[in-house]
Amino acid sequence: MSQDKYHQLKEYCKDNKVTLVAVSKTKPIAAIEELYALGQRDFGENYVQELLEKQSTLPKDIQWHYIGHLQSNKVKMIVPFVHLIHAVDSFKLLQEIEKQAAKYNRVIDVLLQLHVAEEETKYGMDENELMTCLEYYSAQQQNLTHIRIRGIMGMASFTDDTLQLRVEMQQIFTAFRQMKKSFFIGKPYFDTCSMGMSGDYKMAIEEGSTMVRIGSMLFGSR
Ligand SMILES: *Cc1c(COP(=O)(O)O)cnc(C)c1O
Repeated sequence: MSQDKYHQLKEYCKDNKVTLVAVSKTKPIAAIEELYALGQRDFGENYVQELLEKQSTLPKDIQWHYIGHLQSNKVKMIVPFVHLIHAVDSFKLLQEIEKQAAKYNRVIDVLLQLHVAEEETKYGMDENELMTCLEYYSAQQQNLTHIRIRGIMGMASFTDDTLQLRVEMQQIFTAFRQMKKSFFIGKPYFDTCSMGMSGDYKMAIEEGSTMVRIGSMLFGSR
């Protein structure tokens, strides 16, 4: 990765008030250190074991984003240090994060994952499931003081069809606005729409993304 390319991307995100998460999954410690030296602090991983290994060796001021599918039984491993959990896909998982976070006396920031892509393999809730999850959350809020729902995360389909991509991104942003309107009026912390990867981040920003997750563009292909 060239320094120029990183700085350009960083500037582009800054100009658009978008947070850049560098997705370092499968990449070695040295590659992360290289970006860290250039000032990058937000890194994303999607395997718990790999994240634990990296977190234990790398500087403690890195903000670790867990962007993968999270199994309930692994929540306790990342809760002591994780900065943001992107892909919460059930109320049950929210409850488990609450339970583990309480033990560490932390408030964990999370995003709810909306499934919009065509691929069945991608995780997340559909719009109805997402709203139902938020209704449970609302009803239980006084018992859920160790989680803070910051917004939404979505992944568009893996396709070259730019029209389809755009429609899916609009679907994610619309759900984000709907969530805000229905459940988070007057809550300034509800501010995060995590969408956009190496191939589609510019479009994602046009469609309202506030956080992009960029892997291969920064670290090379996996
Ligand atoms: C791997 C991954 C990314 C980064 O993808 P690139 O195309 O390499 O930028 C972003 N989000 C999630 C959830 C991922 O798993």
